[in-house]
Order: sequence, then C-alpha cells, then structure tokens
Amino acid sequence: MRLRRLRNMDGWYEIMSICPICGHKGWCAINKEQTIVHCMRVPSDHYFDSNMGRQFRHELVPGSIPSHEKIEIEQVDAVDKKNNAHLNRVYRALTKELCISVDHENHLREERKMSDDTICVREYRTMPESERWTIAKEVVKRLNSDSDLLGVPGFFVQEGKYGPYWTMSGYSGLMVPFRSIQNEITGWQIRVDSPPLELDLKGAVKGTIKREIEKDHIGNRRALCELTVGGKELEVQLTVKDKKVCMQDDQLIFSVELKQAQRYWWWSSGSKTNGASIGGPIPYHLALPSPCLRYWQSDNDPASLIDCSQVWVTEGALKADKAADGLLKPVFGLPGVGCFPIILDPLKELGCKHVVIAFDADSVRTPEVQRALELCAEYFAANTDMKLSLAMWDISLGKGIDDLLDQNYIPQVSLLVE
Ligand SMILES: [Zn+2]
Repeated sequence: MRLRRLRNMDGWYEIMSICPICGHKGWCAINKEQTIVHCMRVPSDHYFDSNMGRQFRHELVPGSIPSHEKIEIEQVDAVDKKNNAHLNRVYRALTKELCISVDHENHLREERKMSDDTICVREYRTMPESERWTIAKEVVKRLNSDSDLLGVPGFFVQEGKYGPYWTMSGYSGLMVPFRSIQNEITGWQIRVDSPPLELDLKGAVKGTIKREIEKDHIGNRRALCELTVGGKELEVQLTVKDKKVCMQDDQLIFSVELKQAQRYWWWSSGSKTNGASIGGPIPYHLALPSPCLRYWQSDNDPASLIDCSQVWVTEGALKADKAADGLLKPVFGLPGVGCFPIILDPLKELGCKHVVIAFDADSVRTPEVQRALELCAEYFAANTDMKLSLAMWDISLGKGIDDLLDQNYIPQVSLLVE
C-alpha cells in the first residue's frame, strides 16, 4: 500500500494505491494503525465533511489488508526539494567532506567483490555516528551560503544551546549515491549498519518496543516490548524471527512479530526543520561501468561513452553498480520494482531501443513482482517503441544479477514486448 502523509491530519495518510473499501486510487485516507479508513466514495453512517470533501468512516476488519502488502510512505515535503543541479552542487561538496570507513570499504571489497579503484570512482561514503554538524559546516564553506542547504534532502536545522545550526539526518551506514543521466548526484541511499527493530502486529493487539536488549545465544536480536491484549498490559521479551500467533477456532485473534526493518533507507529530512523529503520525484540511479564513470563529466551524454541502445534495469543502486561492471552495459537501479515510470524519459533521452529487466530471481516469482512486471510491460508497450525483455536465471546460481555475474554466469534473456 502506498501512503502519503496528510500534512494537516496527524497520524493519517492518503492511500495512493488501491483503497481497501472502494477499490480506487488516491483521495481516501487511512490511520497510522490501519484500523480505520476514511473513504471518499463508499458511504457509511459515520461521516464528516472536510476541505477534501465528505469522508465516510469504515472500520477495517482485522486481516483485510494482506500481511504481505508492503507499506510505502511518500512524504510531503517540509520545504520543497531543490532541482537536480542544485542537489548535485551540494552533494558534490558533501563527497569532499565525508569519507568511507574501513568497515564499509571492507564490506565492498569482500562481500561485493569490488576493487579499490571501483570503490573510489563510485564515490561511496560513510554517514558517521556523531559530530555531523561539523561536516555540514564544512559543506557550507564550500558553497555560497548556508541557505544553500535549504531543500536538500538529508540536511536540516537543529535548535542548539547557542541557536540553530545545520546538521545531517539519517541512520549511520554506507552511503550509496544515485546518479542522473547527466551524472548529477541527486540523492543517496543509506545501507544502515544496524537496521531498526519494528513490531508487526495483526489483529486484537497493540504494542510498542521499549528497548533493544542483548542478543540471544544464536545471535538473534531481541527487544523488550509492551503489549496490550484484551485490555491487559504485558511486558514481554521478543526475538526477531520468532512470530507469536494466537488462534481460536481457526480464527486469528492476534499475531506479534519483532522484525528488523529494511536495510536501505533514503537519506531524507522531510519531517525536519528546513529539511526536504527525497520524493517528488524520487531519484533513479544510472550506473555506467566504472571505466566509463571515470570519464563521465556532468552534462556529458552517456551515449558518447558507451552504447546505450540496450539498457538493463535492476532494483537498487549498489546492485546496478555491480551489474554495470559485470555486464559492461548501462544499468538503471530502481528504488523499487514498481517505479519503472521514473526511468521512461531518461531511457528515451539515452536513445535506448531495448530494455532488459533483471530483478532478483526469488522476487520474480512473487505475485507482487509478477504484477509489477505485467504493469511494466503494459506501460512500455503503451508509451514507447522500445523492446522489453526479462533476464532470468536459476536461483541456485545467485539471487541477484550481481551474484550471478560474480559466479561468471550470464542470464537468459527473453522478450516480453516486441
Ligand atoms: Zn475509498
């Protein structure tokens, strides 16, 4: 489910994907707990009038939103995001002030099998744990004024003892740059070192995480949580991967699961003072093979460096970087499998004739990704005259296109749209 935070209704979101009550997109709203929908189209006895129109209240039956459905929240900008040229100027200054930690360098070298040269030319960085304001200060020195950080996702203003100052948001982790087709850095994703823990609650239960506690004997993360079940408050220790389910007569009463949140996060500051959300539009990433990247100046047409008649598409920027080096082709890294429309214009500008989609081998068999692929094929057929193909391989050879290429295999490519 795609949601957009409603600016003037705290804890409520506009449903950007299909509303579970009326089956239409947009305009209807859901609360944070996903228990109530304010539908704009299907009447009910309880309603109120707002500046959006008449809103009908519907209580959701537990389980009416499938548990496998991912919730994506599109944030509404606190300050409007600046244009790509401006973001690029600030983020280029940032690359000069941030470095990459030894741990992250080792991760790229050992887990991702990247050479030192590649790591350097791709400009990965580390978001430090602390003292971030000192970096923001040095970035400002490289720009014209501190107002240049306004509207740049990741930066925001904090109130301090001696007045407000600029600093940087986000979890600490490995920073992966997203590049436009003009080699502008237009955003970053952070591969967080320690993904936050979250509670996945279904049915008649409420709860919060109080704090993380030491791992269990096999290294699973644990947390002390507070649950409310049937009006009773309980304090329990929960372990990641250990789902608690309460059933009665084959009916789900409630389930509780402690989960590790996603690894990759946009570097964004949409909920903070003078910060900006990464969205509107969300960045894509174009990866060129590292030998080309070295010579890729801003405003340089990538087609002058590499043949762009065939372009590959995968999910994730790091994966795209790896795939570009393995295939020696231009590769787009999408921030999610469903967001292919954001690369339509860039593909046309590159003069692409043939798009090859290479999503993870395990994901192409899930109904969500199957549906995303169908929509993608329909979209390309309706909006372009490009050929569209799907790259497939046996999952035993590797999950992602990067793993497959590391094993010196190439995928089988089959045509979806002629
Ligand atoms: Zn609705």
